[in-house]
Amino acid sequence: MNTKNWLIGVVGVALYLTANATGAQGRRMEGDLDVIPVRDDIYLMVMEPAGNVAVLIGEDGALMVDDQFAPMTERLLSAIDELSDRPLRYVLNTHWHGDHTGSNVNLGRMGYTLVAHDNVRSRMSSVQYHMLFRTGTRPHPPEALPVITYGDRMSFHLNGERIDVIHLPVAHTDGDSAVYFREADVLHTGDAFINRGYPLIDVASGGTIKGQIEATNRMLELIGDNTIIIPGHGPLADKRRMTEIRDMLVTARQKVVGLIDQGLDVRAIKAADPLAELNPVWEEGFIKSRAFVNIIYQSETGDWSVPTEDEIKRWDE
Ligand SMILES: [Zn+2]
Repeated sequence: MNTKNWLIGVVGVALYLTANATGAQGRRMEGDLDVIPVRDDIYLMVMEPAGNVAVLIGEDGALMVDDQFAPMTERLLSAIDELSDRPLRYVLNTHWHGDHTGSNVNLGRMGYTLVAHDNVRSRMSSVQYHMLFRTGTRPHPPEALPVITYGDRMSFHLNGERIDVIHLPVAHTDGDSAVYFREADVLHTGDAFINRGYPLIDVASGGTIKGQIEATNRMLELIGDNTIIIPGHGPLADKRRMTEIRDMLVTARQKVVGLIDQGLDVRAIKAADPLAELNPVWEEGFIKSRAFVNIIYQSETGDWSVPTEDEIKRWDE
């Protein structure tokens, strides 16, 4: 398929670079797909830097949550084959980013049923922008688009499980779903929650820091002390860890907003290093302190502009 459809998003760009490099890094795509039992008939499938995939298996057939990058389609399908003699039936995307929807085009062509929030379909149908790299994504081919979409919430009833899919209206994007397997007490959060340092919040796709905090609070209300959390990226987590990350988001936002309220512009705010106290613990992922300050600034002030067509074309070359 067209590489541009899956090279998108922060980790998408990282994988695009490694997939196109020669030598050791070029073999990255041939790495192992780790299959980790979570609880009951739910499994986590991981191959970084793509988003975490969850699979529920059983007599009724399998449900997959997120589907990595296009080159991983066969690997995901054969992993499901090894777990179960029943076929894959539904593929749910937690949001539109390429590291969670990259296999859609292949799976759609094979006839699997793609499901997501309304805004996932509309964003995948039109040009999207990536502020961090000043680039964009072209509209996806029709086969890659979810064929069932929902507004506020929906449920699957499959394999003795009730799976609630809940729209988090403003978080990492404006089309995020939290996916709660009620019987197993397992929550897949998509990128509305990541367990790896500062999060990317996609302001061009309608995400805000305030919304990410509210979405995290909403998920905290939904779950209990025994819930296993599958984050969009990073290792499995629990309520205590999610609370810790929520507190970090609240602190980071307060620190940046304090400087915005003093009238500082984004350069001065970055120079003041407002997250200095948090960095030793939290600057561990792809999003560095300055980038996170920028994200908070943009989402609080609305002071940002989408990449120009020229900037996007440079990425097409
Ligand atoms: Zn994402």
